[in-house]
Amino acid sequence: MPRISFQTKLFLAALSTALLALLVAGGLFAFNLQRQTNTRVEQTLRSEAQLAAELLARAPESSSSSDQALDLEADRIGTLITARVTFIAADGVVLGDSAEPYEAISQMENHLTRPEVIEARESGIGMSRRSSATLGEEMLYVAVPARHPRVAFVRVALPLTSVREQLVGILTTTLTALGLALLGGATVAGILAGRMGQRVRAIAWIAQRYRQGDLTPPRLDYGDDELGIVARALDDSVHELGTRIDDLERDRSRMAAILAGMVEGVIVVDQAGRLQLVNTAAEEMLRIGDAPIGRHYIETIRHPAIADLVTAALDARGPASVEFTPPRDAARTIIARAAAVTGGWARGVVLVLHDVTELKRADRIRRDFVANVSHELRTPLTAIRGYVEALSEGDTSPDETQRFLDIIMRHSRRMERLVQDLLRLARLDAGQETIDIAPCDLRGLVHSVVADLAPALEARQQEVLTTIGDGAGIAQADAAKLHDVLRNLVANASAYGPERSTIGVVTARSGDRITIDVLDQGPGIPEEDRARVFERFYRVDKSRARDPGGTGLGLAIVRHLIELHGGRVSVANRPEGGARFRVELLAAG
Ligand code: ADP
Repeated sequence: MPRISFQTKLFLAALSTALLALLVAGGLFAFNLQRQTNTRVEQTLRSEAQLAAELLARAPESSSSSDQALDLEADRIGTLITARVTFIAADGVVLGDSAEPYEAISQMENHLTRPEVIEARESGIGMSRRSSATLGEEMLYVAVPARHPRVAFVRVALPLTSVREQLVGILTTTLTALGLALLGGATVAGILAGRMGQRVRAIAWIAQRYRQGDLTPPRLDYGDDELGIVARALDDSVHELGTRIDDLERDRSRMAAILAGMVEGVIVVDQAGRLQLVNTAAEEMLRIGDAPIGRHYIETIRHPAIADLVTAALDARGPASVEFTPPRDAARTIIARAAAVTGGWARGVVLVLHDVTELKRADRIRRDFVANVSHELRTPLTAIRGYVEALSEGDTSPDETQRFLDIIMRHSRRMERLVQDLLRLARLDAGQETIDIAPCDLRGLVHSVVADLAPALEARQQEVLTTIGDGAGIAQADAAKLHDVLRNLVANASAYGPERSTIGVVTARSGDRITIDVLDQGPGIPEEDRARVFERFYRVDKSRARDPGGTGLGLAIVRHLIELHGGRVSVANRPEGGARFRVELLAAG
């Protein structure tokens, strides 16, 4: 069925109301008119009957006149009052009739039993409405007694067809007027419905726009009536809702940003255990990429520890946190904490996942470090204590005493160096050492390093050969720190290189970088140890037999200092044997 527009409905409603009103009014009018006409006709006929009786009584010759004269009198009065007049004798015989010729009068039926005659005899006036036996048409009869020697009743009759014709004429006019009124009503209804329809269409169009998400306020005058009030109220509601949606959207994106930016993984599970929210960190930690929201968490997070935790949190009992190793990632440790959410309409569990792998590693490093420091300190301390005890016994020869004192001195220096290196590392870790970048003359720097290490180099009869590459004579660096770096590397080269060997210091420029290589002819560093030699206390050769007396912290300090410059340090073995430590610095600093 085609959709009927509001305008059409309104028009039809107005039109049918008008039609109904006009029909009722018309019906009432017609009914009243007919009644009035009937009453009027009846009254007129009554008056005419009485008039006819009066005329008959006053007719001078009528009392003695013949039958024919009576009939003529009937005809005369009938002409006067323009109605059928009948004279009836007391026995009901018709004596005269204006509608019949004299000859036919004697043939007429006896009228004694006519209802109007009976009524007239009883009550002085009688009226009847029926079809005439003589004329064969619907007639209204009124009979009154006559003051006449022969005529007992005068009866007048009027054919109702003429009354009806009158009525039909009036009704036709009325109906025409009603039709015109209806036409006018329809026009007015059409105009009103048109205007109303236009407004409703405009409001519907705006509602449609709102539904499509366009909430820009329309420049439209809604009018002052109820429709306008409704439209404005809806408009206001929509804009209010729009503002709230905007607020919610802002809150949501803020929350999404917070959740996305969080290092901790966050998982929200509803009361039925269905996933409601999984942030990126949680997806990464549990390697679940694109978590299916709405599904049961067991299907995604297949980890019994978490399942137990969520169940316990939902039942508000049991452990609030658990440490576990995520599936397919045995190297990592995650702590999951669960909290039941009970406030408001939302019930469920919020799981927060902390990746504590780094913390654990740092903790292990710290513990190892403390153990290493203790170990490093214990060796010289034990030696010092042993020799001090030996000396305190007082039975050592002067030569022995001197030797013991030398050993004590060596170990004390080693402890001092260790403490110095530890303090330096602590300062570097705490970011307390700032760098002061300036152009450094590398040749001069190497020269001063060699001068510093001269005693050791001379003792081992080693030679340092410096090669400054093209454009690699100046580096942007903190001179003192770069000095410490080179001093450490050359000292190592000397310590681990054989006696009478050559140590090379080669600088080169490659692109925006300057490389400083320290080359030795020692044993080099096995591949598996290369990544670790920069760790604290890491030693390639764990035996103390060939301990060159280092603290085990030199390379760790070197790496720290170079990283402070934004550079890099690495180690490789030279093809011809020996290690090559390479420092890379930005030429521009
Ligand atoms: P150390 O004080 O023991 O030298 P470092 O941090 O300077 O401590 O060096 C760490 C370890 O790296 C050393 O113990 C050594 O085993 C190895 N190493 C360092 N430099 C060299 C080198 N030039 N040749 C061979 N091994 C080296």
